[in-house]
Amino acid sequence: MSSVVLDKVTKVYPGDFLAVDRLSLHADDGEFLVLLGPSGCGKSTLLRMIAGLEGITEGSLWLDGQVANHLAPRDRDVAMVFQNGALYPHRTVRGNIAFPLEIAKADPAMVRERVTELSKALHIDETLDRRPGTLSGGQRQRVAMGRAIVRRPRLFLMDEPLSNLDAGMRTELRMEISALVRSLGVTTIYVTHDQVEALTLADRIAILNRGVLQDVGTPAQIYNDPATAFVAAFLNSQQLNLLAAEVRTPQNQYVLLDFGPHQLTLPWSDPRAYAISQHTGGQVLVGLRPDGLAPVPESYEGPSFYGRVRALEYHGHDWLAYVDCGIPHVPVPEPPDPRARAAQDGEAPGGLPGLVRRLFGWQEEHP
Ligand code: ATP
Repeated sequence: MSSVVLDKVTKVYPGDFLAVDRLSLHADDGEFLVLLGPSGCGKSTLLRMIAGLEGITEGSLWLDGQVANHLAPRDRDVAMVFQNGALYPHRTVRGNIAFPLEIAKADPAMVRERVTELSKALHIDETLDRRPGTLSGGQRQRVAMGRAIVRRPRLFLMDEPLSNLDAGMRTELRMEISALVRSLGVTTIYVTHDQVEALTLADRIAILNRGVLQDVGTPAQIYNDPATAFVAAFLNSQQLNLLAAEVRTPQNQYVLLDFGPHQLTLPWSDPRAYAISQHTGGQVLVGLRPDGLAPVPESYEGPSFYGRVRALEYHGHDWLAYVDCGIPHVPVPEPPDPRARAAQDGEAPGGLPGLVRRLFGWQEEHP
């Protein structure tokens, strides 16, 4: 068993700086929990408090049902991997991975077996006799991971372990971390500011901002039903359109979102209609994701905005159209249509007006 419970944990740094504010959170046995948030939100502080590297100002930390606020780091049975997994430069890869078991005076045959097994799982079995100075960044992080995991701690803490690697290596190692940690079943708390990393790795994600927990849930829960506008915006690397709307339910026939220049109607069969109707007579903030918007023909009868295409950008995998809807610009995927390109280059007769008459609506509402 290995669970972590944080109960109203607060961290005040010298100078009265409140880095973590009465934060309550738990990680269940075998769970992969990701702490996500912008730089300075307090996620490393939280991880360091769990590891015992930083004191807790107020509140309690429970490890496996026991208060651990004052437990020495070495008695927590916790292993940590940092951004720059600092390795012992004069030890070989084998010596680095084996180190925690050697100081615990483990049986040498068992040490050999574990190191061999782990180095294969981490694809560094060819480097076992080399020193860290001769390894690539990705290989060094694999060794750091191996060294942390080798003694099978009850809790695995990782602080942005992939952030110094290039994009390709990050994706590769991300998949390996996921497979390895899950095969061992070790409870893991993983810190990152990278949304994709959080969404792909986590069983649950906890999102922090300025030391305050904003939301916690499975990736799908927080992506589809974010608790706050901050969470919705942070999870969308592309611009999220956040628009204020008044809610009405004319004669109880449907739900109407009035954005001022535009209105959207949602039938009662729409899964969002009931929740939005709870705010009838008031204002709500509506998040429209670019990936939930698409051009529709003029004959389209579902919820839609009518807008003027101001600019088109080619992004390799798709086009983005910046559309003026009388509200913030709305980037939408645009098929690579030669007419669009010509319009962008100003070569088509009339230029952009050729694309003006387009309607935009929620993609899932498409016929
Ligand atoms: P990053 O992703 O940039 O590492 P983070 O979310 O991990 O950010 P923390 O390192 O936990 O953030 O820092 C939270 C806040 O506490 C920051 O404003 C930071 O400047 C401050 N802080 C961290 N350590 C100390 C310290 N020892 N003394 C005073 N303030 C600190």
